[in-house]
Formats: sequence, structure tokens, C-alpha cells
Amino acid sequence: MNKAPKPRLEEIAERIYAYIQPDGGWCLSNSGFLVGPDRVTLIDTAATEPRARALRSAIQSVTSAPTRTLINTHHHGDHTYGNGLFPEATIIGHDDCPAEMIESGLVLTQLWTHVEWGSIDIVPPTVTFPDRLTVYSGKLRMELIHVGPAHTTNDVVAWIPEHGVLFAGDVVFSGGTPFTLMGSVSGSLEAIERLRALGASTVVAGHGPVGGPELFDATESYLRWIQDLTRQGIEAGLSPLEVAGETDLGEYQDLLDRERIVGNLHRAYSEARGEANGTKLDDLTIMLEMVTYNGGQIPTCLA
Ligand SMILES: [Zn+2]
Repeated sequence: MNKAPKPRLEEIAERIYAYIQPDGGWCLSNSGFLVGPDRVTLIDTAATEPRARALRSAIQSVTSAPTRTLINTHHHGDHTYGNGLFPEATIIGHDDCPAEMIESGLVLTQLWTHVEWGSIDIVPPTVTFPDRLTVYSGKLRMELIHVGPAHTTNDVVAWIPEHGVLFAGDVVFSGGTPFTLMGSVSGSLEAIERLRALGASTVVAGHGPVGGPELFDATESYLRWIQDLTRQGIEAGLSPLEVAGETDLGEYQDLLDRERIVGNLHRAYSEARGEANGTKLDDLTIMLEMVTYNGGQIPTCLA
């Protein structure tokens, strides 16, 4: 937890906070929370025990109310490994989230063995929903909307209409490379259309600084570029790894975690083959190709 800049708390609307963990790369995800009259409603819980403890302290720095409701935007460990640090909360997620969480287990701890993970229990949601669910914080309404498959099969965004605030989870990245290996490229593009239509003025991405609707444009433009590369790659008879190796990243060069291009191309190739959005691919083999693309180095994780 010493290698990355310190997390910061931003009050983005009255009693609504974004908890931003720079630099927003691998495993450095954002959380958010609403302070209601009798409870805190929390969105996502960070990747490691020390980081979840720091999140808990940040909440306690602005309220003594207990965290009674916890929403997981999707099953990935960087958003859910801290769930066990909030035992007083009812955990809510999409219908597919618990099974995905259990199947993935502690995979991130095996990829990045240098990280100080601490003690982590996999604690899946106990309340799930298929499409939409409304959650109240006092009188304030928050709409949970399933928009997957996009980043994963079980993406949920949290929309607070009264304040124009959207917690988008990893459907939207801010300053980082989008990642659709476990979800869908075309599904992400559809999801972004739906998010845009909500009319949010403040968008908290799953990773990176708080922004506005321009974050939709950045994610969309990258994913359309991936689809173009896929068409050209298939025509040229190249594999996703070969396409990635030959491609000049151009305007996407400065995004964090550039090696995700390999995973994104595999997903777009799958869709070009006519496979259903969210079809399981061989994640492990593809992650190893991402390491190859990265010059044989495991991608940087500062968690
Ligand atoms: Zn994720």
C-alpha cells in the first residue's frame, strides 16, 4: 500500500463520496458511499485487507453510521475482496455475481504475489437481482441497473438521479485501458449508450479520477478502435497477439495497463466468430499472452 499515492475522499454531491485510489491501475479500484440518516450505503470494497481497512476509516472520518448496505459493481476481487471487512452490511449484486466470485476465488493473489493482501475471505452478495433494483438511503433513491455483459457478465451501475451521479464500475475507465476479456466489447458499447442516456453530470469510473460524460466518449472510442483492429486482423489472418504486437497505440499510448489490448482483441475476435457476448474464454492463457505483450513482465500492480 506504500507504492501508490494515498487514496483520497471527494464529496461529489451532498453526503455522497467518491473514494479514489490512485493511480487507478490494476487492483487500484474506486469505491463510493452515501451517508444516510441511519446508515452508510457503500459501493465496492477495494482489493486488500489494508486497503479495505483504510476505506473503512475514511467512512468513519465523516460519519459514525454503520455500513448497512454494500453494492458490488461486479465480481472482480479488486472490488470485492474487502467485503469481509463490512460484516454489518447486506451485500447486493447481480444474479451472476456470487457464482462468478466463488469461481474466481483468490486468483488476483496468485497473479500478484508481492502485494500485501492481508487476510481475505470471499464474501459474495446475499441479495441479487436480474435487471434493476432500487435502494434507498433515507429519502435518496439509488437505482442499480445491470448493464452486462460489458466489463464482465454481471456489471451493475449505481445511478442517483437527484444528484446526476453515476457510479459506473468498470464499464467505464478513467485514464486506464478498458478491459472486456471477461465481458463483451459490443455489450460494453451498448452499455455506454444506456449510461449516456441517463444524463449523469458526475461519473465515477471503476478506476481513475472522477469525471463527467466525457469518460463515456473515451471508453467508446477505444472499443470502436479495437473492433476496427479486429476486422483488419481477421482479414490479414493474424492472431490477437500478433495484431497487438504490430499495432501503434497512438492516442491510447498513455492509458494505464496497455497490455489489456490483447484481452480486448481476444474478446472482439470471439464476437466476430459469432459467439455470444460474455462467452467464457480461456482467461489464463490470454492473461499469459498479455504478459508476453508486456515483454514477459507481469503487469504493474501497485496495490
Ligand atoms: Zn473489474
